[in-house]
Amino acid sequence: MRWTQIYIPTLREDPAEAELISHKLLLRAGFMRKVTAGVYNYLPLMQRVLHKISNITREEMNRAGALEVTMPVLHPAEVWQASGRWDVVGKEQMRLKDRHQRDLVLGGTHEEIITTLIKGELRSYRQLPLNMYQIQVKFRDEIRPRFGLMRGREFIMKDAYSFDRDEEGLKIAYQKMVDAYFRIFRRCGFDIRKVESDTGQMGGTGAHEFMVVVDTEGGENTIFYCDKCEYAANQDKATFISDQPDERENEKLPLEEVHTPDRKTIEEVTDFLKLPAERLVKTLLYRADDQIVAALIRGDRQINEIKLKNESGCLELEMADAPTVQSITGSEVGFAGPCDLKRVKFFLDEEVSKMANFVTGANKTDYHYKNVNAGRDFRVDHITDLKLAEGGERCPHCEKGSLKTDRGIEVGNTFMLGTKYSEALKAYFVDADGKDKPFVMGSYGVGITRTAQAVAERFNDKYGIIWPKSIAPFGIVITPTNYQDEKLKEIADQIHGELEKKGLEVILDDRDERAGVKFNDADLIGFPLRVTVGERGLAKGQVEVKVRRTGEVTSMDLDPAADKIAEIYDRID
Ligand code: ATP
Ligand code: MG
Repeated sequence: MRWTQIYIPTLREDPAEAELISHKLLLRAGFMRKVTAGVYNYLPLMQRVLHKISNITREEMNRAGALEVTMPVLHPAEVWQASGRWDVVGKEQMRLKDRHQRDLVLGGTHEEIITTLIKGELRSYRQLPLNMYQIQVKFRDEIRPRFGLMRGREFIMKDAYSFDRDEEGLKIAYQKMVDAYFRIFRRCGFDIRKVESDTGQMGGTGAHEFMVVVDTEGGENTIFYCDKCEYAANQDKATFISDQPDERENEKLPLEEVHTPDRKTIEEVTDFLKLPAERLVKTLLYRADDQIVAALIRGDRQINEIKLKNESGCLELEMADAPTVQSITGSEVGFAGPCDLKRVKFFLDEEVSKMANFVTGANKTDYHYKNVNAGRDFRVDHITDLKLAEGGERCPHCEKGSLKTDRGIEVGNTFMLGTKYSEALKAYFVDADGKDKPFVMGSYGVGITRTAQAVAERFNDKYGIIWPKSIAPFGIVITPTNYQDEKLKEIADQIHGELEKKGLEVILDDRDERAGVKFNDADLIGFPLRVTVGERGLAKGQVEVKVRRTGEVTSMDLDPAADKIAEIYDRID
């Protein structure tokens, strides 16, 4: 391929629209252009990268026995209504109406479509297990599309769906996908981490996410992992062993109202009362659909809203606004407490359930209560874990190690769905015993476009992107320092031809540009290997090869340069 025959609009300056390094680099290096929020054109270099990631994914899916299909992007609303997710997915779903005013959906995932596809047709247990996948565009009306391809409204995903007779079968199917995911992401150059995750609106019995660890803002997720055992979970899911002593047998002291003028925050109240934050219990009021719920957690903890949402079983959870808090508590914001609080359901964190004689707001402006006790002073509706995990806490798995944190980009995930969709959509097969049973399902996603950008976020330096060989847009760039020079042109053309004959993906920079510009562009784009054909080298009958990742330079005689270049290319990653 010749540079002048491909479209690579590189930019000299960082585009203002980009925050992340990968986003800047992909724009500057001419891989993509924004159309509107969360929607991009993928230019020729990006298209090549996406093909490679897709092909690696395809190979590993096929190797795991999954079958490629293509399902529609356009879905009738009815399948989503039938599964019950029309309401659950809510605003994230891209919806439109056809000319007859019928509701349609631009698919953001395909559990409904695939379950409907096999329903009624795949009838015998003998046809199981089955796993089908596609690599296709998805639409999601994300609240905050950002970071380029990391969180788009239109993006490419590989999604696979497994169907089994029973839980045993699902476990096997799930493990095959997990193994395939490790192979896919390792082939993309990542040291991938598998972490436990929440099943969220997907439902089901268990899930994992595949994370690329980065130390930049691009790592939107916090990952918790144990320094002694295999435990690893994302922030939604992570738990830890609490240091809270069990005080339930302690003597319960009489409730006492204390004047705390203008002391609203945990810090202000604890300073004023000269108590540590863990003696305080925060009462956080939320609107859970059309109900108000109160979450009670220790003053030094943060709340995990995902856990609260799951526990309350609501579709939408948001913090109650100030007027609501005022009307519920009859006081200013900052003095909410569980005693005498009417019309709300209480969710107690496990730690709070073990505490005695704690401090809470008194639902009266400028007052708190001391010596509050659950059960005696207020009704307990639910006891559960509501805490956000924190680094340094004790591992919930081995109970010995301490939790560490990292930032991660979620590039893939796997869900054990169980029978949630097959039951909702009434998709049954006839088992060996002649009985109708719902399919036991799994679903498995890889963000193809997000993976491409995650590579750029993970592998770069001050000069540009550093693509692993497996997914680089071209493996080798040949840079003649002056293509107008007959001799340089001849040698560059010759090496180009020979490398192409070897089946390597080579791009020849035949532009009439200064050598410095060409070198900069080559580094910015991040081809794994650069062959420099320059006057000084040629005077000695040599060309120079530079490995992008390591900076290692090798000079070699012209004859047989192509063989040597291929050798070096062969041994780099
Ligand atoms: P997230 O928590 O990041 O929103 P998700 O849990 O919604 O992701 P899934 O529905 O499981 O993601 O989708 C499977 C994969 O698709 C994700 O692991 C991710 O790689 C990719 N993906 C999800 N949403 C987007 C998006 N808005 N833009 C680009 N890729 C995405
Ligand atoms: Mg999402």
